[in-house]
Amino acid sequence: MAILELKGVGKSFGRTNVLAGIDLAIEEGEFIAILGFSGSGKSTLVSLMAGLSQPDQGEILLHGKKITGPGADRGVVFQSYSLMPWLTVQGNIALAVNATTPKASAAERAEMVAKYIQMVGLAHAADRRPAELSGGMRQRVAVARALAMRPEILLLDEPLSALDALTRAKLQDEIEAIWSGDKKTVVLITNDVDEALLLADRVIPLNPGPGATFGPAFTVDLPRPRDRTAVNSDETF
Ligand code: ADP
Ligand code: MG
Repeated sequence: MAILELKGVGKSFGRTNVLAGIDLAIEEGEFIAILGFSGSGKSTLVSLMAGLSQPDQGEILLHGKKITGPGADRGVVFQSYSLMPWLTVQGNIALAVNATTPKASAAERAEMVAKYIQMVGLAHAADRRPAELSGGMRQRVAVARALAMRPEILLLDEPLSALDALTRAKLQDEIEAIWSGDKKTVVLITNDVDEALLLADRVIPLNPGPGATFGPAFTVDLPRPRDRTAVNSDETF
C-alpha cells in the first residue's frame, strides 16, 4: 500500500483554481521530486500533504486513512526559515523533541536534541539564535527540527532555493544521506531540474495551471550515492 496517496485533489483560492485532478501514490522509502515553476501550486500541494489546509476536491490518504490535519508523521521544511527567532538552535530542536517524546526524561531529551543537532553538523552552533546563523545553517536547523518530529515522511518545500550554489550542493548531499541512512520517504518540492534529477528516484512535473496537474512522471536510474566529491569537498573550499 502507498504510504501517502492523493486522489483527484483540487484546490482553489476564491476564483483561482490552483490545483486540479492531482493523483499520486507515494511508496514507502521513495524519494520523489515534484518539479514546477514558481506559482504553479507547489507550496499549496505541500500544505495539503502536510494537512495544514484541506483540498476542495478529492482526498489525501496516509496509510489508507484520510488525513484531516497536521501530524508528527509528516515533517515539513518550508522554503523560508520558520524557526523561532527567540530560541537557540538547541531550543528550536527541543521544541520538536519535547512535542514528540513527552514521556522521556530530561536527560534522554537532551541526548536526542544533541543527536539531531549533530546529524546536521551544527554542534558548534547549538547556542546560537537564528539571527546569528547563515541561511544554510538555518535550513539545517529546519531539517533537524523536521527530523526530530520523527516523521515517516519528510516534505521539503524548496528548502535550498534561497541558498548559494555551494551550500545548496552540500545540503543536497546531506538530504540524500538522511534519506539513505534513515530510509525515510522524502518528497522534495523544487524548481531546480538538476536537483530533482540528482536526488530523486521519480520526478513528477507539475504542469502550470490554472488548475495545475501532474504531467507524466519519469524515473531516474542513476547509481547512489552520487559522486560529487569534487563539488562538495570542504578541503577544496
Ligand atoms: P509555488 O509554491 O509553486 O510557487 P503556490 O502554491 O505558493 O506556488 O501558489 C500557487 C498559486 O496560488 C499562486 O498563484 C498564488 O498566488 C496562489 N495562492 C497560494 N496561496 C494562496 C492563498 N492563501 N490565497 C490566495 N491565493 C493563494
Ligand atoms: Mg512555493
